[in-house]
This record gives sequence, C-alpha cells and structure tokens, in this order.
Amino acid sequence: MHRFPSRSALRRSLTPLALACGLATTGLAHAAPQAQLHQQAQQAQAAYLDTLRDLVHIESGSKDVEGVKKIADYVAGKLRALGGKVEVIAPSDVYRLDDTPEQVGPMVHATFQGKGKSRIMLIAHMDTVYLPGMLKDQPFRIDGDKAYGLGIADDKQGVALILHVVELLKKQGIDDYGQLTVLINGDEEISSPGARSTITRLGAEQDAVFSYEGGGSDGGVRLATSGIGAAYLKVQGKASHAGAKPEDGVNALYELSHQLLQMQDLSKPEQGLKLNWTVAKAGTNRNVIPAEATAQADARALKVADFGALEQAMQAKVGNKLLPASKVELKFEVRRPPLEASEAARKLALHAQSIYDKELQLSMRVMDKATGGGTDAAFAALKSKGGVIEGFGLSGYGAHSNDAEYVQINTIVPRLYLSVRMIQDLSRGAVK
Ligand SMILES: [Zn+2]
Repeated sequence: MHRFPSRSALRRSLTPLALACGLATTGLAHAAPQAQLHQQAQQAQAAYLDTLRDLVHIESGSKDVEGVKKIADYVAGKLRALGGKVEVIAPSDVYRLDDTPEQVGPMVHATFQGKGKSRIMLIAHMDTVYLPGMLKDQPFRIDGDKAYGLGIADDKQGVALILHVVELLKKQGIDDYGQLTVLINGDEEISSPGARSTITRLGAEQDAVFSYEGGGSDGGVRLATSGIGAAYLKVQGKASHAGAKPEDGVNALYELSHQLLQMQDLSKPEQGLKLNWTVAKAGTNRNVIPAEATAQADARALKVADFGALEQAMQAKVGNKLLPASKVELKFEVRRPPLEASEAARKLALHAQSIYDKELQLSMRVMDKATGGGTDAAFAALKSKGGVIEGFGLSGYGAHSNDAEYVQINTIVPRLYLSVRMIQDLSRGAVK
C-alpha cells in the first residue's frame, strides 16, 4: 500500500472501441452485455464518488465505537435498499489482544440470494486508524485524477466498491449465484478482535472471497500476506533490599534475562518465521531487587502452522528457569495469521488477470509471495477451500498517514467491471 504510483498502465483509456476490439479477438459469446456492463460501470462512477464522500465524512476510528455504529447504519441502509438481508452485529466472541478496547465496533453482514449454487463473499472494513476530529484536515475532495480524504484508501474505497458492485449486479440482472455475502467489519485496524471468528466461519463456506483493501499503486492483487504475532513474557520475583538483604529477594530481571537468552534463536529465516524481543521493563528503584519484569517480542510467519509451533517451542522453554522461586508466564497472541497462496486463489487471480487483459486491455500484477502486513483476507482463508484474493480495491496511496490519503479515480470503472465479471463467471461456472 505504501508505494508510489506508476500509472501509465492505468491511464490507457477504456473506450468502447478498445473494448469491442478486445471482445472481437477473444471471441467471447457475451459481447453485448459486457459492453453494456462497461457503460453502466462508467455511469456508476459519479454515484460511487458520492457514496465515497458520504463514507469519508463519517469519522469511524476503530476505537470510536459511536462513529463506527454510525457508518455501519449507513452501510446497512444501502445494502437493505439493494434487497439484501442485513444485520448489524455487535461482536460477542471477542479475541482479547493486548490492545483490544473494552468495546469493539459492530460489523455489517448482508446476504443476497440467487438462483444458482456458487457462494461468493465480498469483504472490506469501515473503521480507520484515525482519531475523532482529524477529518477537518482531510475532507473529501477531488483534484484532477485523484480523490482525497481521511481513510479514503484504507478502506472506504473498498466499502463503496462493494456497494456499487452489488448495485451493478442488480442492474445487469445477474442473479445466478447461489448466495452473495457481504461482510463489512469495524475493527480491522485493531486486528479484528471481534470480527475474526465471523470472517473465518463465513469464509469457510465460500467458493471465492474478494477482499477490497487497496490494489496498491499499480492495481496488483495479493494472494499471500505475512502473519503477525506477539509474545509477552511476565516474570514474578520477590522484592527485597538490594543492599541489606538481596538474598531474600528473587530477582525477576535475572530470570527475564535468562528467558530472553534461551529464546533468542527461535527464528527460522529460511521459512520466513521471525521472533525478535523488542521491549523489556524491570524494577522500580536502584536499591530494590526487582519483583517484576516483562518483555515483548514481535513474531512474523508465512505459514499458519508456524505460529502454533513457535508458541509450543516457547512454552517448552519457559519451564527451564534460572531461579526456581520465580514465576514465569508466557502469552502468545496471533494478531493476524498469514494468508497462504492456494491453488484456488491462483486460479481466480488468473481469471481476473485475463478479464483485465482481454476485456479492458489493462495489465494486472498477481503477487503470490507475501509482501506486506496481514489483512482480514487471512482470516477468511483460514478454513476456506475456495480462493481468497486481497487487493480488489482501488489504487491509491497514503494509508495510515497524516495527509493526502487518496485514491486513483481512473481505477473505479475497471474495478467495478472486474468484480461484476468475476461474480458473473463464478456463477456460471466459467472460472476454470
Ligand atoms: Zn485496511
């Protein structure tokens, strides 16, 4: 998400002539509806930008639960108007992480019944990393080929895309999918403590999941992301006077040091597993044997199973103490599992690539090696047999920054078109 745009490929115009040529050379049977779809996608651009402005103008930082509720109501209202069965769900099964707030924002869950069999889910998140009051410095505005605004790239563009994709499906009369599920959560930026179990449960039922985080600077899609974990060590010792009676104490700092040293070589760089201790605290006064010491480690993995194995290895080490009278506790949290590229995802991505290439004359990069931090796509893929693709959103720049977050307006039409075509082809069994 944090690369500078190279827009030359995206600037190529999508004229009806170019479209017609693409169709002529590929010889697809459904030439007319696709030209009509492309025209409808073009016509939807203005309405899309209106929706995007509305979404940007509702502040919805992850910890601003009132703001998240407000945006959830807006999204739910739009999905209801499109004929969905819609629920706003307050998470009940919350995975408590170190920084999980007391209250976690709701998610919007919508389903649309079709006449066929395929099950497809579209996901995005409506929360942002920003604090209330920051909108006034980054209101929605259009300048040339960019739309600016707070949270616009991450991930309000994705929410707006899903809403307008569903609308285009209706306009096109496409209803030969089995069930189309939309899930928009309100806690992604705090590692989805409330939505993760729902995303995984719904993900397991799908033939395909498209996640609408931004498509980076060049519109590429991602099939793999790295997982992020955190380890917390807490050592309980016993305080005593460091000058008069040190032997009466149990030095928590010594025990912590021993634990860190025996857990310094658990990384396996050849398979992308990394564990690094980064924060430590101990003691209160120079003349007191410290009764408590704590440390934190950052963990990264490319394979879901690696975190489990790492935690086991750490728990086994904890039992080997320097000071038997100390108490050592280890807590390991999976902040986000890795997304592993699957065969099903590769197949989907190849299909998407060919739609871009043959029907829009645009190129699309498919990244199947993890390049960056995790997203909700990883939760969707945990138990899924279907393919999961990340980065179906617009191209843009500036996520999590203090100014000038924007999206590329000329990627709206291609992304709307692509999503509808993917759902259409999955529904009629045309993704081989
Ligand atoms: Zn995001």
